[in-house]
Amino acid sequence: MSTHDDETPFDAYREAVDRPLSRLFREYAPGRLGWFSSGMFANFVARMASLVPPLILGVAIDAVFLDEGPFELPIVPDAWLPTESAEQFQFTVVAIAGSFLVVAVFTWIYGVTANLFAHDVMHAVRVESFEKMQRLDTAFFDEKQTGEVMAVLNNDTQNLERFLDDALMNSARLLVMVGGIAGVLFYLNWQLAFVTLFAIPAMVAFTIWFMRAAEPRYVSQRSAVGRLNTRLENAISGMGLTKATSSEAHEVDRVRRSSRNFFDRTMAVLKLSYVYRPGMELLAGIAFAGTFLVGGLWLTTGTAPGPLTGTLSVGDFVVFLFLTQRIVDPLAEVSNIVDQYENAKASSERVFGLMDIPVHVADPEDPVALEPVEGRVAYDDVSFSYADTEHADADGDSDPAFEEPVLEDVSFEAEPGETVAFVGPTGAGKSTLLKLLLRLYDVQEGSVRIDGHDVRDVALADLRSAVGYVSQDTFLFDGTIAENVRYGHFEASDDAVRDAARAAQAHEFIAELPEGYETRVGERGIKLSGGQRQRIALARAVLADPEVLILDEATSAVDTKTELEIQRSIDRLTEDRTTLAIAHRLSTIKDADLILVLEDGRVVERGTHEELLERDGTYARLWAAQAGDRERAAEALLETDD
Ligand code: ADP
Repeated sequence: MSTHDDETPFDAYREAVDRPLSRLFREYAPGRLGWFSSGMFANFVARMASLVPPLILGVAIDAVFLDEGPFELPIVPDAWLPTESAEQFQFTVVAIAGSFLVVAVFTWIYGVTANLFAHDVMHAVRVESFEKMQRLDTAFFDEKQTGEVMAVLNNDTQNLERFLDDALMNSARLLVMVGGIAGVLFYLNWQLAFVTLFAIPAMVAFTIWFMRAAEPRYVSQRSAVGRLNTRLENAISGMGLTKATSSEAHEVDRVRRSSRNFFDRTMAVLKLSYVYRPGMELLAGIAFAGTFLVGGLWLTTGTAPGPLTGTLSVGDFVVFLFLTQRIVDPLAEVSNIVDQYENAKASSERVFGLMDIPVHVADPEDPVALEPVEGRVAYDDVSFSYADTEHADADGDSDPAFEEPVLEDVSFEAEPGETVAFVGPTGAGKSTLLKLLLRLYDVQEGSVRIDGHDVRDVALADLRSAVGYVSQDTFLFDGTIAENVRYGHFEASDDAVRDAARAAQAHEFIAELPEGYETRVGERGIKLSGGQRQRIALARAVLADPEVLILDEATSAVDTKTELEIQRSIDRLTEDRTTLAIAHRLSTIKDADLILVLEDGRVVERGTHEELLERDGTYARLWAAQAGDRERAAEALLETDD
């Protein structure tokens, strides 16, 4: 299947979800059945009790006020009922008041239990989706589907809550009311009941038509929300670029288009609801008018109209008029129920779509232990290409025929404590190569080994605690500096954090900040300079103390002094551990045990600094080109040593 504009690989899983709402129940209802059934039961009792007052009123009108009928009630034995008119009147008052009390108490119970059930499911769904999202392959996030994922975690779980809470309970109420009212009406006068209830099949048919017509519109409305969220999220992340390039109008325009698309799809849904809701009310009105016409004729003429036979009492007629009105309300809710049902179905498809996305980079079944870690790293004929989602199949898997190889047959070895450096033009595949060691992606051919074990045979947590990663773009969480240094080693003491910061040459600038280690860095660390962020990342690596260190050197320009400071902390950090370093400034890797020059995913040269200079190839040319930079760096070094 090819994915076009309207679809993301995410949709492939969404579409494959089978009967999502019943799956929601199978997976989340057990364990919460107490609340659910209490809610349903209280709902049932409250609705049934609400039918008592009109029924008793009808009986009282005939027996007490008109003195025309017996004082009888369904289900209640006659022996329990008073025979004196005055007592019957009191009984009626007490019964009506009592019913309202029962309605109030059980509506309260229903509200509490149904809400607990729905919100607890929502909470579980949200946390489990988030857990799942954390385990998804890195590749999933390359597709920029953060908006979609946010929509699942926020809107979709909310839709489910609304469905479980309102829609489910309202449909139970609907069934109880329609069933209960129909029962009472048939009990009182089955012939007039047919007149009243003829509208129900028409309402059912109308509702089915509406559901069929609305479903596809709901689905496309939901995906429009997802795309709008992605757009907004992207626009907010890119705010800096937008401002710097004065592209505000362009961004507003893009958001306007997404929002307009959402608007159009919402209107498509609403257009149907506009027809549906008044249609239902019209049908209910016809039922009411028909009942009034037939019953009124029956009473005023004293004989049954048309084919009807028997008699109709005033009390029964009053009950009919009361209850026919009562039927309208729950039936008018049907459109809301359908609305929420459709939303919940689409939402649970998306929730389970997310849950069903296969994770390729997962823990092995029987992981080998890396204990103690020595830090030997080997790549054997490694080939790799990124998934091509433009040509993904129905399962969302990439088609290898369309993939561009990013790495081809790369081999090297690093003994414990050695440094291997990677040099080459941008896009040569250096970062990708090192990400394979962390299993951010898995190789397609060959293998990456740590201490002789294929990384795919090692538990992910073990692997990632043995390998530290200091990347080009340093991410800091919103929080304090201390929290950011401690990230990943949350139990580290304040002293350990300080020592790590000292080793990373970060202590000095941190101590100068107004709140020191407790200074908040702001979202993504924007309140700090690039060099400061980098030193915090280095401090984090010092604290983690991994046996193998991956350094993806920043290309971003920091001033020469900062660069030297960073270099010093890096030198200390790499001293006793295996280091794989991507270097742009060749002076920093001159002493590496092995240097690999990559071009287009292939190793074109390898050797030590001296060997490569002797070869007089790519590396030697780069070295010569950077000589000027080195002179300036040397001058700066003299300045700092003053
Ligand atoms: P280097 O680190 O040498 O600059 P990279 O490993 O970043 O090179 O990139 C190698 C190639 O892989 C480039 O062509 C780049 O466009 C591509 N690439 C990098 N990351 C991804 C990704 N997440 N998804 C798809 N292609 C990618």
